[in-house]
Amino acid sequence: MNLPEFSSKIIYNEDTFKSLAAFIKTFKASNIFILTDTNTNQHCSSYFLSNLETTLAVEVLEIEVGEQHKNIETCFQLWEAMANLGADKKTLLINLGGGVLTDLGGFLASTYKRGISFINIPTTLLAMVDAAIGGKTGVNLGNLKNQVGVINPAKAILIDPSFLATLPPQEMRSGLAEMLKHGLIYDAAYWNKLSALNKLTTADLMELIKTSIEIKTTIVAKDLHENNLRKVLNYGHTLGHAIESYCFNHPNLPKLLHGEAIAIGMVLEAYLSVEIASLSKAAAKEIKQVVLQSFPKITFTETDIENIYQLLQHDKKNSHGNIQFVLLEAIGKPVIDCNATFTQVKAAFDFYNS
Ligand code: NAD
Ligand code: ZN
Repeated sequence: MNLPEFSSKIIYNEDTFKSLAAFIKTFKASNIFILTDTNTNQHCSSYFLSNLETTLAVEVLEIEVGEQHKNIETCFQLWEAMANLGADKKTLLINLGGGVLTDLGGFLASTYKRGISFINIPTTLLAMVDAAIGGKTGVNLGNLKNQVGVINPAKAILIDPSFLATLPPQEMRSGLAEMLKHGLIYDAAYWNKLSALNKLTTADLMELIKTSIEIKTTIVAKDLHENNLRKVLNYGHTLGHAIESYCFNHPNLPKLLHGEAIAIGMVLEAYLSVEIASLSKAAAKEIKQVVLQSFPKITFTETDIENIYQLLQHDKKNSHGNIQFVLLEAIGKPVIDCNATFTQVKAAFDFYNS
């Protein structure tokens, strides 16, 4: 069989809502359920509902905000609510929110009645350029992230930057980190463009979001199940994830959003790229300087670094005994499946701290 790997329709023209209405008609859906969280119900629902052109019955579901609700208990409540409110096999689920919501809603739709159609309407920058795209859906298992899920692309993804008007600046920054990553792993010209910006303005945003989406979809279309090429999207994430969970559990360190931790991970892994791949020292310095332009610097002590390395070791059990890094040969040119020693990781922190 020759199945298309990744086939979500991405709607981001001037007439987004007209295109969405036309697209919804093609489903012959029985009704529409819109999944929101407390914030997106408050900030995004009325704008979305007033622009949604449909004659179908619409139900709005709301969950509590936050990563801690991305779990099977929330799904259970939603499966029950949907059944009680008459959701059937032809119900269309629309996920209106950030990455927590599109991950959870995608999983909910993929499992309800063995799978109903769903559309993602990302309302955070991070979800627009990353989480809502690429078919990864799922929930956390206790403290372990994304342990239960399926790969099932949304039928469509609607991008409307006007949702970002109410997004806090820290959340905008978190999305910017993933955009910088897209430049670093795929497109040096895009990296240069982002580096030259003093701040993200609405005028630039649509164009930049479009480039990031093109990069992500191109990569995902070639390797939906992350056997090979898709791993490049993990640049900055090996150390970034460890830093994210370490900071989350340590009162002396600030709690970082995902993208903020990834930004630090990208600087550290730039240093490793000099040591292990062939990235030039000048490029690593540039990456550090660009990241520190937009992200606050955190000071890590010797103990922090040792503990973060322990967390990496824990990860190692999950990947055939090696800590896997994506590194850079040059800006725009990644290499997958690299390994680094503790001494090299320690030196990377010295580079970041200096
Ligand atoms: P999020 O969904 O928690 O959203 C961040 C915050 O912004 C929340 O408080 C939310 O309620 C609020 N919010 C959302 N839209 C808003 C708006 N327009 N105005 C005001 N507030 C708004 O987090 P996120 O950063 O979007 O996503 C992080 C999640 O995405 C994580 O669970 C991560 O695992 C997942 N993720 C998934 C993928 C993937 O490929 N599936 C990729 C990256 C991240
Ligand atoms: Zn990420």
